[in-house]
Amino acid sequence: MQRMPKRSGILGMDIGGTRFRIGFVGQDGILSHYREERTQEYFKEGEDIFSVFAELFQTYKREFSEEIEILALSVGLPSTIDRSRKVILQTPNIPLFPDNFAFTDQMQEKIGLPVFINRDVNNLLLYDMEQLGISEESSVSAIYFGTGVGNAVFLNGRILLGKNGVASELGHLPVLLNEKKCSCGNVGCLETIVSGIALQALQKEKFPNIRIDDIFVEEKDDPEVDLFVRNMAKVIATEENLFDPDYILLGGGLPMMSGFPKERLEKYAHEFTRKPYPEQNMEIVYAKMDQKNGVLGACLYGKKRLEDSSYL
Ligand SMILES: [Zn+2]
Repeated sequence: MQRMPKRSGILGMDIGGTRFRIGFVGQDGILSHYREERTQEYFKEGEDIFSVFAELFQTYKREFSEEIEILALSVGLPSTIDRSRKVILQTPNIPLFPDNFAFTDQMQEKIGLPVFINRDVNNLLLYDMEQLGISEESSVSAIYFGTGVGNAVFLNGRILLGKNGVASELGHLPVLLNEKKCSCGNVGCLETIVSGIALQALQKEKFPNIRIDDIFVEEKDDPEVDLFVRNMAKVIATEENLFDPDYILLGGGLPMMSGFPKERLEKYAHEFTRKPYPEQNMEIVYAKMDQKNGVLGACLYGKKRLEDSSYL
Protein backbone atom coordinates (compact mmCIF):
# COMPACT_ATOMS: atom_id res chain seq x y z
CA MET A 1 0.00 0.00 0.00
CA GLN A 2 1.25 3.45 -0.86
CA ARG A 3 2.08 5.66 2.09
CA MET A 4 -0.04 8.79 2.55
CA PRO A 5 1.94 12.03 2.11
CA LYS A 6 2.73 13.74 5.41
CA ARG A 7 0.68 16.79 6.37
CA SER A 8 2.85 19.77 7.25
CA GLY A 9 1.72 22.44 9.69
CA ILE A 10 1.98 23.97 13.15
CA LEU A 11 2.11 22.28 16.54
CA GLY A 12 0.02 24.32 18.97
CA MET A 13 0.09 24.23 22.76
CA ASP A 14 -2.42 25.97 24.99
CA ILE A 15 -1.12 26.12 28.55
CA GLY A 16 -3.67 26.79 31.28
CA GLY A 17 -3.42 26.86 35.06
CA THR A 18 -5.23 23.52 35.35
CA ARG A 19 -4.90 21.84 31.96
CA PHE A 20 -2.79 22.12 28.90
CA ARG A 21 -3.72 21.04 25.41
CA ILE A 22 -1.67 20.06 22.39
CA GLY A 23 -2.69 19.64 18.78
CA PHE A 24 -1.52 19.88 15.21
CA VAL A 25 -3.10 22.03 12.50
CA GLY A 26 -2.06 21.29 8.92
CA GLN A 27 -2.05 23.66 5.94
CA ASP A 28 -5.57 22.35 5.37
CA GLY A 29 -6.63 24.11 8.61
CA ILE A 30 -7.72 20.82 10.17
CA LEU A 31 -6.88 20.02 13.79
CA SER A 32 -5.58 16.52 14.49
CA HIS A 33 -3.55 14.53 17.04
CA TYR A 34 -5.19 16.53 19.81
CA ARG A 35 -4.68 15.70 23.47
CA GLU A 36 -5.23 17.20 26.87
CA GLU A 37 -3.12 16.81 30.01
CA ARG A 38 -3.02 18.12 33.57
CA THR A 39 -0.63 21.07 33.83
CA GLN A 40 0.64 20.21 37.30
CA GLU A 41 1.71 16.72 36.25
CA TYR A 42 4.23 18.19 33.84
CA PHE A 43 5.07 21.68 35.04
CA LYS A 44 6.08 20.66 38.58
CA GLU A 45 8.22 22.42 41.16
CA GLY A 46 11.90 21.85 40.52
CA GLU A 47 11.49 20.91 36.85
CA ASP A 48 13.40 22.75 34.15
CA ILE A 49 10.77 24.36 31.93
CA PHE A 50 12.80 24.07 28.74
CA SER A 51 13.28 20.35 29.35
CA VAL A 52 9.55 19.88 29.99
CA PHE A 53 8.65 21.61 26.71
CA ALA A 54 11.42 19.86 24.76
CA GLU A 55 10.37 16.46 26.10
CA LEU A 56 6.72 17.13 25.25
CA PHE A 57 7.70 18.24 21.78
CA GLN A 58 10.04 15.32 21.06
CA THR A 59 7.62 12.71 22.37
CA TYR A 60 4.83 14.13 20.23
CA LYS A 61 7.04 14.40 17.17
CA ARG A 62 8.30 10.83 17.54
CA GLU A 63 4.83 9.42 18.04
CA PHE A 64 3.34 10.99 14.92
CA SER A 65 6.43 11.30 12.70
CA GLU A 66 4.87 9.08 10.03
CA GLU A 67 1.86 11.34 9.60
CA ILE A 68 2.86 14.94 10.24
CA GLU A 69 5.72 17.33 9.64
CA ILE A 70 5.97 20.10 12.24
CA LEU A 71 7.10 23.46 10.81
CA ALA A 72 6.90 25.51 14.02
CA LEU A 73 5.78 25.41 17.64
CA SER A 74 3.25 28.01 18.81
CA VAL A 75 2.42 28.31 22.51
CA GLY A 76 -0.47 30.21 24.09
CA LEU A 77 0.05 31.17 27.73
CA PRO A 78 -2.01 32.75 30.52
CA SER A 79 0.79 35.30 30.84
CA THR A 80 1.80 38.81 30.01
CA ILE A 81 4.35 38.71 27.19
CA ASP A 82 6.83 41.34 26.04
CA ARG A 83 6.42 43.41 22.85
CA SER A 84 8.92 41.31 20.89
CA ARG A 85 7.01 38.11 21.77
CA LYS A 86 10.14 36.46 23.17
CA VAL A 87 9.89 36.94 26.94
CA ILE A 88 7.18 35.61 29.26
CA LEU A 89 6.79 38.47 31.74
CA GLN A 90 4.40 37.16 34.38
CA THR A 91 2.30 33.99 34.84
CA PRO A 92 0.45 34.25 38.17
CA ASN A 93 -1.45 30.95 37.78
CA ILE A 94 1.52 28.67 37.06
CA PRO A 95 4.10 29.02 39.86
CA LEU A 96 6.83 27.18 37.92
CA PHE A 97 7.06 29.98 35.35
CA PRO A 98 9.44 32.66 36.66
CA ASP A 99 8.92 36.36 35.94
CA ASN A 100 10.83 37.89 33.00
CA PHE A 101 11.45 34.48 31.48
CA ALA A 102 13.28 34.66 28.12
CA PHE A 103 11.71 31.73 26.34
CA THR A 104 11.69 31.59 22.56
CA ASP A 105 15.40 31.91 21.64
CA GLN A 106 16.53 29.08 23.88
CA MET A 107 13.53 26.94 23.01
CA GLN A 108 14.18 27.36 19.29
CA GLU A 109 17.73 26.22 19.84
CA LYS A 110 16.52 23.17 21.74
CA ILE A 111 14.06 21.93 19.13
CA GLY A 112 15.57 23.40 15.96
CA LEU A 113 12.31 25.02 14.80
CA PRO A 114 10.70 28.47 15.03
CA VAL A 115 8.95 28.96 18.39
CA PHE A 116 6.19 31.55 18.88
CA ILE A 117 4.50 32.63 22.09
CA ASN A 118 1.38 34.71 22.63
CA ARG A 119 -1.17 35.58 25.29
CA ASP A 120 -3.80 32.85 25.20
CA VAL A 121 -6.65 35.35 24.79
CA ASN A 122 -4.99 36.96 21.76
CA ASN A 123 -4.88 33.54 20.13
CA LEU A 124 -8.50 32.93 21.08
CA LEU A 125 -9.61 36.21 19.54
CA LEU A 126 -7.85 35.41 16.25
CA TYR A 127 -9.57 32.04 16.11
CA ASP A 128 -12.97 33.32 17.25
CA MET A 129 -12.92 35.99 14.54
CA GLU A 130 -12.15 33.39 11.90
CA GLN A 131 -14.83 31.06 13.20
CA LEU A 132 -17.49 33.78 13.37
CA GLY A 133 -16.54 35.05 9.91
CA ILE A 134 -15.54 38.51 11.20
CA SER A 135 -13.25 40.17 8.66
CA GLU A 136 -9.84 41.52 9.67
CA GLU A 137 -11.03 44.96 8.52
CA SER A 138 -13.27 45.04 11.59
CA SER A 139 -12.37 46.22 15.07
CA VAL A 140 -13.19 43.76 17.83
CA SER A 141 -12.99 43.91 21.61
CA ALA A 142 -13.09 40.46 23.17
CA ILE A 143 -13.93 39.86 26.81
CA TYR A 144 -13.48 36.34 28.16
CA PHE A 145 -15.27 35.93 31.48
CA GLY A 146 -13.57 32.83 32.89
CA THR A 147 -11.62 32.19 36.07
CA GLY A 148 -10.40 35.77 35.62
CA VAL A 149 -11.31 38.35 32.97
CA GLY A 150 -9.39 37.89 29.72
CA ASN A 151 -9.33 40.70 27.21
CA ALA A 152 -7.97 41.18 23.70
CA VAL A 153 -8.46 43.95 21.17
CA PHE A 154 -8.22 43.70 17.39
CA LEU A 155 -7.63 47.07 15.72
CA ASN A 156 -6.38 48.14 12.26
CA GLY A 157 -5.82 44.57 11.12
CA ARG A 158 -3.76 43.54 14.15
CA ILE A 159 -4.03 42.54 17.77
CA LEU A 160 -3.36 45.63 19.88
CA LEU A 161 -0.04 45.03 21.68
CA GLY A 162 0.81 48.36 23.31
CA LYS A 163 4.23 49.83 24.06
CA ASN A 164 5.31 46.88 26.23
CA GLY A 165 3.18 44.17 24.65
CA VAL A 166 0.80 44.07 27.59
CA ALA A 167 -2.18 46.11 26.33
CA SER A 168 -5.80 45.18 27.04
CA GLU A 169 -5.60 43.95 30.61
CA LEU A 170 -9.19 44.88 31.36
CA GLY A 171 -9.29 42.42 34.26
CA HIS A 172 -6.65 44.46 36.07
CA LEU A 173 -8.36 47.81 35.75
CA PRO A 174 -8.42 49.28 39.26
CA VAL A 175 -12.01 49.96 40.29
CA LEU A 176 -13.12 52.48 42.87
CA LEU A 177 -13.79 51.43 46.46
CA ASN A 178 -12.35 47.97 45.93
CA GLU A 179 -9.61 46.88 48.34
CA LYS A 180 -9.46 43.20 47.40
CA LYS A 181 -6.07 41.71 46.61
CA CYS A 182 -5.58 40.38 43.09
CA SER A 183 -3.46 37.45 41.86
CA CYS A 184 -1.33 39.98 39.94
CA GLY A 185 -0.12 41.45 43.25
CA ASN A 186 -2.11 44.69 43.06
CA VAL A 187 -5.12 45.74 45.07
CA GLY A 188 -8.52 46.69 43.63
CA CYS A 189 -8.47 44.97 40.23
CA LEU A 190 -11.76 44.50 38.45
CA GLU A 191 -11.44 40.71 38.26
CA THR A 192 -11.50 40.42 42.05
CA ILE A 193 -15.20 41.40 41.74
CA VAL A 194 -16.28 40.09 38.33
CA SER A 195 -14.81 36.65 37.58
CA GLY A 196 -15.35 32.95 38.04
CA ILE A 197 -13.36 33.13 41.26
CA ALA A 198 -15.59 35.93 42.58
CA LEU A 199 -18.73 34.00 41.62
CA GLN A 200 -17.41 30.94 43.43
CA ALA A 201 -16.79 33.02 46.55
CA LEU A 202 -20.37 34.34 46.37
CA GLN A 203 -21.74 30.82 45.99
CA LYS A 204 -19.74 29.52 48.96
CA GLU A 205 -20.81 32.35 51.19
CA LYS A 206 -24.45 32.72 50.22
CA PHE A 207 -25.58 29.52 48.51
CA PRO A 208 -23.55 26.70 50.08
CA ASN A 209 -26.27 24.19 49.18
CA ILE A 210 -26.40 25.05 45.48
CA ARG A 211 -23.82 23.72 43.04
CA ILE A 212 -21.86 26.51 41.37
CA ASP A 213 -23.01 25.17 37.97
CA ASP A 214 -26.64 25.73 38.99
CA ILE A 215 -26.29 29.20 40.46
CA PHE A 216 -27.91 30.98 37.48
CA VAL A 217 -30.53 28.26 37.02
CA GLU A 218 -31.63 28.53 40.66
CA GLU A 219 -30.78 32.05 41.77
CA LYS A 220 -30.50 34.45 38.86
CA ASP A 221 -33.12 36.73 40.44
CA ASP A 222 -31.35 36.90 43.78
CA PRO A 223 -30.21 40.53 44.28
CA GLU A 224 -26.54 39.58 44.72
CA VAL A 225 -26.46 37.30 41.68
CA ASP A 226 -28.24 40.01 39.71
CA LEU A 227 -25.65 42.53 40.92
CA PHE A 228 -22.93 40.19 39.67
CA VAL A 229 -24.52 40.23 36.20
CA ARG A 230 -24.86 44.03 36.37
CA ASN A 231 -21.15 44.24 37.20
CA MET A 232 -20.33 42.08 34.17
CA ALA A 233 -22.40 44.53 32.11
CA LYS A 234 -20.36 47.45 33.48
CA VAL A 235 -17.20 45.72 32.27
CA ILE A 236 -18.71 45.41 28.79
CA ALA A 237 -19.84 49.05 28.83
CA THR A 238 -16.34 50.16 29.89
CA GLU A 239 -14.80 48.41 26.90
CA GLU A 240 -17.51 49.65 24.52
CA ASN A 241 -17.10 53.25 25.70
CA LEU A 242 -13.31 53.07 25.38
CA PHE A 243 -13.01 51.53 21.91
CA ASP A 244 -16.40 51.85 20.18
CA PRO A 245 -15.53 48.64 18.30
CA ASP A 246 -17.45 47.03 15.44
CA TYR A 247 -18.02 44.03 17.69
CA ILE A 248 -17.93 43.18 21.37
CA LEU A 249 -17.09 39.49 21.45
CA LEU A 250 -17.99 37.62 24.63
CA GLY A 251 -16.50 34.29 25.62
CA GLY A 252 -15.25 32.33 28.59
CA GLY A 253 -17.06 29.91 30.86
CA LEU A 254 -19.38 32.34 32.68
CA PRO A 255 -21.71 33.44 29.85
CA MET A 256 -21.95 29.77 28.79
CA MET A 257 -23.14 28.52 32.19
CA SER A 258 -26.57 26.97 32.13
CA GLY A 259 -29.30 29.46 32.95
CA PHE A 260 -26.97 32.42 32.46
CA PRO A 261 -29.22 35.44 31.71
CA LYS A 262 -27.66 36.67 28.45
CA GLU A 263 -30.58 38.93 27.56
CA ARG A 264 -30.43 40.58 30.94
CA LEU A 265 -26.66 41.04 30.64
CA GLU A 266 -27.12 42.74 27.27
CA LYS A 267 -29.93 44.93 28.59
CA TYR A 268 -27.73 46.09 31.46
CA ALA A 269 -24.77 46.60 29.10
CA HIS A 270 -26.91 48.98 27.04
CA GLU A 271 -27.99 50.73 30.22
CA PHE A 272 -24.37 51.52 31.21
CA THR A 273 -23.05 52.41 27.74
CA ARG A 274 -22.91 56.05 26.67
CA LYS A 275 -25.92 57.42 24.72
CA PRO A 276 -26.71 57.84 21.93
CA TYR A 277 -23.45 56.31 20.66
CA PRO A 278 -21.81 53.85 20.95
CA GLU A 279 -24.88 52.44 22.73
CA GLN A 280 -27.24 52.48 19.74
CA ASN A 281 -24.87 50.58 17.49
CA MET A 282 -23.30 48.23 20.03
CA GLU A 283 -23.09 44.74 18.57
CA ILE A 284 -22.50 41.89 20.99
CA VAL A 285 -21.54 38.48 19.59
CA TYR A 286 -20.66 35.27 21.41
CA ALA A 287 -17.67 33.00 20.85
CA LYS A 288 -18.41 29.38 19.98
CA MET A 289 -16.71 27.93 22.99
CA ASP A 290 -14.71 24.74 22.74
CA GLN A 291 -11.76 23.45 24.76
CA LYS A 292 -9.82 23.03 21.52
CA ASN A 293 -10.05 26.72 20.53
CA GLY A 294 -6.86 27.69 22.38
CA VAL A 295 -4.82 25.19 20.37
CA LEU A 296 -6.54 26.20 17.13
CA GLY A 297 -5.80 29.85 17.92
CA ALA A 298 -2.16 29.10 18.75
CA CYS A 299 -1.77 27.31 15.41
CA LEU A 300 -3.46 30.15 13.53
CA TYR A 301 -1.12 32.64 15.19
CA GLY A 302 1.90 30.44 14.40
CA LYS A 303 0.82 30.30 10.76
CA LYS A 304 0.58 34.11 10.57
CA ARG A 305 4.03 34.47 12.15
CA LEU A 306 5.54 31.98 9.68
CA GLU A 307 3.98 33.71 6.70
CA ASP A 308 4.89 37.26 7.71
CA SER A 309 8.09 37.90 9.66
CA SER A 310 6.85 41.37 10.71
CA TYR A 311 3.66 39.98 12.29
CA LEU A 312 3.66 39.93 16.09
ZN1 LIG B 1 -4.78 42.39 39.07
